[in-house]
Amino acid sequence: MKFGFDIDDTLIDLREYAFGVYQEKLGREVDKEAFHELQRVEIHEIFGMSDEEGAEMWNSLVDELYYADCPPSPGAVELLQTLDQQGHEIYYITSRTAEHGENTKEWLKKQGFPVRDDRFYCGMKDAEKVQIIEDLQLDYYFDDKPAVLETLNHEALKVLVRDQSYNRHLDLPRIKQWADLHELIENEMK
Ligand SMILES: [Mg+2]
Repeated sequence: MKFGFDIDDTLIDLREYAFGVYQEKLGREVDKEAFHELQRVEIHEIFGMSDEEGAEMWNSLVDELYYADCPPSPGAVELLQTLDQQGHEIYYITSRTAEHGENTKEWLKKQGFPVRDDRFYCGMKDAEKVQIIEDLQLDYYFDDKPAVLETLNHEALKVLVRDQSYNRHLDLPRIKQWADLHELIENEMK
């Protein structure tokens, strides 16, 4: 089977990592509750920043956020390794910009994710993901972002949402922990 994955906040906990980095850089503590209540992907509002200031902060730190110590979501590496060993095809589809493609691929490999160069797509807009996903004829696709998930409505494709505070309104099968997916997939294949 073909499995497609978004990366940021699906396979890795980038926002939560950024939340820590922002506190450190700004020298101020923000209640974790506020983070868990955010209704959008961007995190700057809990630091009192405007969208413009938030974008500036993110862009100034993006290399550190992407390539330093951001942790994979618990169980994600193990799950993808298992799928790979079972002979399934694993695709990565990220809207990180094209200039980050090579480094992102290498970083994923270093974390233990099974990555094949010809099964890695980046540099597209959210709305363009849908075309790639259709062309690849995936069986499963996982993402966290409402703007992407809302565009995917195909009978043959099983879309699952990686649970985050800003996507709870979506009525889709929901992954809270990657470890739970082993069972789901085994049941599917019986
Ligand atoms: Mg994402």
